[in-house]
Amino acid sequence: MSEKQFLEQSLWHNSLVRIENSPIFYQEWFDRGIMKVKHLKNASNSYLSLAEMQRKYSLNFCPLKYFGLISALKSLWNKCKDDCINNCNYENFVEKLTKCQSANKLVYVKLVSTKCTPAIHTQQKWLKDCHLNDVDSINWRDAYQLASKYTKSTRILELQYKFLHRRIATNDFLTKIGIRDNPNCSFCNEEQEKLLHLFWSCPKVVTFWHEIIVRLTLLNITSEHYKIEPLVALGLKPDLSKNYQQINFSFLT
Ligand SMILES: [Zn+2]
Repeated sequence: MSEKQFLEQSLWHNSLVRIENSPIFYQEWFDRGIMKVKHLKNASNSYLSLAEMQRKYSLNFCPLKYFGLISALKSLWNKCKDDCINNCNYENFVEKLTKCQSANKLVYVKLVSTKCTPAIHTQQKWLKDCHLNDVDSINWRDAYQLASKYTKSTRILELQYKFLHRRIATNDFLTKIGIRDNPNCSFCNEEQEKLLHLFWSCPKVVTFWHEIIVRLTLLNITSEHYKIEPLVALGLKPDLSKNYQQINFSFLT
């Protein structure tokens, strides 16, 4: 509540202005036009003294009654003031929208933020698969945006989305839900076909990654000593070396 709103607060039957935990109403004061907080303040924004009250409103009243009301108003203002300080940076959505150059984007971000939930479960599974203890080992914002920075192919974007959210049906998963009998890898048939095995550690896939690096090195995109990291190869982390654009694009495609 701003100071202006506080001064406009009604004194009577107001659940915020309580004495002995009840809203109040003083008929005689009301009859003399005392209705809002501002009516109890003087020109310098201080509460009227007893003498000022009596002079201004020709009222005779018990001083304790007046001081009780002032005390209730002061404690209300102290509370409102704290709320005001805490919310001083708050700008409501409509205000932002009217100022914004790109309104569609703002509305989109707002709608997405109210509907989306972070994929904590899949993120934790990735950390476990990659033997990472630190939750900050992967910058998930970077990871989710990586594909769209280096390709416009919807097929690749969709695959990478499914991959990051672990929505790819591996043999291990299909066996668990009763669609297959054998959870082993379709390429090597030696280990259970889990995501990390299928895209990184399967012997057939290791050969595939090795060939990619050989080709990139022949094209002078990667150096001879380039060491491919699983997080980078799988698109969980962007490559930041010299030719990062070509490298990131190659790993995705
Ligand atoms: Zn395999």
